[in-house]
Amino acid sequence: MLSDCRHCDACRRVCPVLKLGVPAFPACYETSERSPAVWNCTNCWLCHEACPAGINLWQKKALAQQQCIPPAAIAQGIDNLKATGLVFPFTPELNERRRAYGLEPVKLLDQRKLSLLIS
Ligand code: SF4
Ligand code: SF4
Repeated sequence: MLSDCRHCDACRRVCPVLKLGVPAFPACYETSERSPAVWNCTNCWLCHEACPAGINLWQKKALAQQQCIPPAAIAQGIDNLKATGLVFPFTPELNERRRAYGLEPVKLLDQRKLSLLIS
């Protein structure tokens, strides 16, 4: 619960994830900040922009995610991102398949730049 929250519901009314009936970042409501629902957020920040109290929902959500172990699929994406800069798993076969469809090969990020971005 946020002490400066006005309980106006604006953050929830604009959230595209909640509109789909999927639990999302709880903003200021009853859901525990340790809920895995914080990982359903799309980072659109409509809630942050809509908040009339000027609560930094961006920061609150980032803190909530640090306190909550991500679901396995998201954890895998984070590991992939750290390793290659891509959220999906990269294997040489991926570029073989892309070439077969006439697509450019996926270019991996320079490891030095990647570690600077992620650290
Ligand atoms: S940033 Fe997340 S919680 Fe906020 S409106 Fe977008 S999807 Fe919903
Ligand atoms: S928009 Fe801001 S003030 Fe309104 S309910 Fe959400 S967090 Fe509270």
